[in-house]
Amino acid sequence: MCYVEVPMCGVFGIHGHDEAANIAYLGLHSLQHRGQESAGLVALDEQVGLLRRHVAMGLVSDSFGREQLSRLPGRTAIGHVRYSTAGSSELRNAQPFLFDYAGGSIAIGHNGNLVNATSIRTRLESQGSIFQTSSDTEVIVHLMAKSQDPDPVARLRSALSQVEGAYSVVLLTNDGKMIGARDPHGFRPLVIGRLKDAYVLSSETSSFDLVEAEFLREVEPGEIVIIEKGGLTSQRVFPHVAAPPPRFCVFEHVYFARPDSLLNGKSVYRTREKLGMRLAIEAPADADVVIPVPDSGVPAAIGYAKQAGIPFEMGLIRSHYVGRTFIEPRDSIRHFGVRLKLLPVRSVVDGKRVVVVDDSLVRGTTSRKIVKMLRDAGAREVHLRISAPPTTHPCYYGIDTPTRSELVAASHSVEEINRYITSDTLAYLSHDGLMAAVGTNPAGDGYCSACFTGVYPVSLGKPDEAVLVQLRRPGV
Ligand code: SF4
Repeated sequence: MCYVEVPMCGVFGIHGHDEAANIAYLGLHSLQHRGQESAGLVALDEQVGLLRRHVAMGLVSDSFGREQLSRLPGRTAIGHVRYSTAGSSELRNAQPFLFDYAGGSIAIGHNGNLVNATSIRTRLESQGSIFQTSSDTEVIVHLMAKSQDPDPVARLRSALSQVEGAYSVVLLTNDGKMIGARDPHGFRPLVIGRLKDAYVLSSETSSFDLVEAEFLREVEPGEIVIIEKGGLTSQRVFPHVAAPPPRFCVFEHVYFARPDSLLNGKSVYRTREKLGMRLAIEAPADADVVIPVPDSGVPAAIGYAKQAGIPFEMGLIRSHYVGRTFIEPRDSIRHFGVRLKLLPVRSVVDGKRVVVVDDSLVRGTTSRKIVKMLRDAGAREVHLRISAPPTTHPCYYGIDTPTRSELVAASHSVEEINRYITSDTLAYLSHDGLMAAVGTNPAGDGYCSACFTGVYPVSLGKPDEAVLVQLRRPGV
């Protein structure tokens, strides 16, 4: 589990398949963990050269039925699941967006967050642009529309060269191009697969397993891939500039991505297991049982238990029918969410010294409730272990973390947090341990870990809190 109001978004696209909309629908299902506020698909009806769109608030399964899918004919489709990191939670912000401009029609789905979207938008509005959404993604479309180039890919390159921050985008044009692009730091994942003759793009490889596509490779940081009838070609966003070092979001490994996905060629499950193993070495505990905070804490808890030689058991059971409450937009819902979705198993924890492994501790309120629930269920001792370093800084690259003032680790020591949580002991994985588990050096080359270090790879250009206000949901 994670208490961050996290998952950002997921994108999916398929080009050249008779069942494009159905496959994209399945692909979105496998990305549901990345966003549950809205879901959408755009398909190209090649017979008439029209892009058709359906978006709705809610889960993929609630947003699409046979009727909606039957209204999306064609052999190419892109889709998006959304959690609002920028722009409010309402239907007009549901993606993919579909716009007409002088060059034709274009649909776009975006995962990430543009740190200079507000200044670009202010400039464009002062020049007469009228925005239809409150999402940062729309600035890309406006910048494309302003370009005079007849080639949509050149327009996209021009737009992307003006934005800063995190983007993994999929686009679909009414002349049959499916385009994928990733920002030069590669904060968010984007992968390419093959399903018979069709190409597939997705935020995660787990989608490929679901639709039985073969994983080909990642879209490289700073790369634009263009998929059309003739096949796949590649360009650079900044062809004449040396590429900056990649800064892949390390939190994707810790929490965001599905454990059955591959990130940078590495199994997310195995990485999380290693996080748990290192945690057991760095922060051992005398205990009778290791339990995870499900679901995302499970692999790390397995690793901890293996390394420590302590039995692993499921001491907390998660209800899968309430959704992931941390991504609900209102505090009131989140407050009830913990008890709604997690309950202790008395027969596992009663009379035991329990190690609880979780993947993050952000505000601390949920951990406190979990510790209390376990004690109420008879646990003799509760030792909380976090398979990541303390979250001390907010994310500006597409993850909806609280402001710095709400991050408990930003202003409290581990011992103070331990007292607040009321656990017997509390320990986090070190930054070095995290980097070793993901397979890089202690400096974290190749990764962003700004939420643990405050070292932001892309300059924000504004005071932290001011930027964050743009990113945050209303009411949070
Ligand atoms: S700040 Fe944290 S959550 Fe955001 S991109 Fe960097 S590592 Fe990921």
